[in-house]
Amino acid sequence: MAVTEPAPSATTTVHEGILRRQSMRESAARTYARSLPIVPVRARGLTIEGADGRRYLDCLSGAGTLALGHNHPVVLEAIKKVLDSGAPLHVLDLATPVKDAFTTELFETLPRQFADQARVQFCGPAGTDAVEAALKLVRTATGRSGILAFTGAYHGMTAGALAVSGGAPDVRVTRLPYPQDYRCPFGVGGARGAELAGNWTESLLDDPKSGVVPPAGMILEPVQGEGGVIPGPDSWMRRMRKITADRSIPLIADEVQTGVGRTGAFWAVEHSGIIPDVMVMSKAIGGSLPLAVIVYRSELDCWEPGAHAGTFRGNQLAMAAGAATLAYVRQNRLAERAADLGARMIARLRGLAADHPVIGDVRGRGLMIGLELVDPEAAEASNGANAVAPGAAAPSPADPVLAASVQRECLARGLIVELGGRHAGVVRLLPPLTLTDEQAEAVLDRLADALTAAERARPENRRPH
Ligand code: PMP
Repeated sequence: MAVTEPAPSATTTVHEGILRRQSMRESAARTYARSLPIVPVRARGLTIEGADGRRYLDCLSGAGTLALGHNHPVVLEAIKKVLDSGAPLHVLDLATPVKDAFTTELFETLPRQFADQARVQFCGPAGTDAVEAALKLVRTATGRSGILAFTGAYHGMTAGALAVSGGAPDVRVTRLPYPQDYRCPFGVGGARGAELAGNWTESLLDDPKSGVVPPAGMILEPVQGEGGVIPGPDSWMRRMRKITADRSIPLIADEVQTGVGRTGAFWAVEHSGIIPDVMVMSKAIGGSLPLAVIVYRSELDCWEPGAHAGTFRGNQLAMAAGAATLAYVRQNRLAERAADLGARMIARLRGLAADHPVIGDVRGRGLMIGLELVDPEAAEASNGANAVAPGAAAPSPADPVLAASVQRECLARGLIVELGGRHAGVVRLLPPLTLTDEQAEAVLDRLADALTAAERARPENRRPH
């Protein structure tokens, strides 16, 4: 007797058809679509529903874009209001009431000292275009061409932004050490490691034979995101501010990912109290729609009209959605909420690390959290600079295969997480700032289960002992 396969449901067929056509028609360069084979059709808050009817808790949040989660009512209302008003949707960089309200709200969120004498440039809609604008601005203002950037940095994919990102060589870019505790390049970590990173920076700048191209600016992420969730210590941020100020080098803070409450302060530079010369902003400022700007000290504003043009610098819907998001985060103190909930989530993850030797490090700031997965059995000769303080154990090499397996196991349990880090061994959580305590528990429960499953499936555990 022939065994009949159950007929695939209509929803499964639609889902699979879309995924199949995507893999046939879209570029080999596609990214998230490879590790997250889902077809989102509906979303609200933390939850995404796929075309196959499955629901997922989304801790990727559009790569950290969705400060209020998906389709927050205040964002939808702001968008509808513009649509219903008959306002033009495309206006180049002309003045509109929507843009005026966005700028007012944006300046309201900035440190007073900065906002009082700042200028804003609306850029093309991606973070990378705002990075280009920042580099161009400081080069124009200083007449110099070099740029100081950091190991592990990520600033975008256009030529200039790529050049200042770690791993993209450019003769004008001087690469400086970003301090990190777990894999400290100086082998000491902590405050001493950050101090040595500062000393290195200072000595390079003051050594007439260092080969450093005279710098037009220094660009840094207050917390490195794609580089593996590495918070720059506050003392180090202040040191970078002093080093640059003393040498008249404009300091550019790339807040594309860290802004709008994500790290537990509205802008991550506020943790250290520094005022940069330029801030780069995108992602959350558009309330889920594309928007990117730079805000900078008005003395730098000496570039020519049209120096950074672009057709799509006037996205009215993004400005309305963004203004609503900024106001909601500010009025509801979501940065404080991110600080509090993030600290509790990190504490719980550190507890988990005690039972899982594959968790090499748990770190983060606010709701920007990373879990570095390692191979504890691997030989000590490992990924890069691993020397540590005398007596302390050397960190094991990163385990990108395990990280990818954890990501898959998370997806199987209805949880979407991101991967990052120098060796792609860091599981990243970027949940919306509206995450409830119960949702946070659910996220961590699923992550813990996924970790256990992925750990069990490691080849080491399948070998007979
Ligand atoms: N800077 C930082 C710190 C980022 O995290 C990103 C994106 N992940 C960018 C710049 C580039 O933004 P976009 O992808 O919108 O070009």
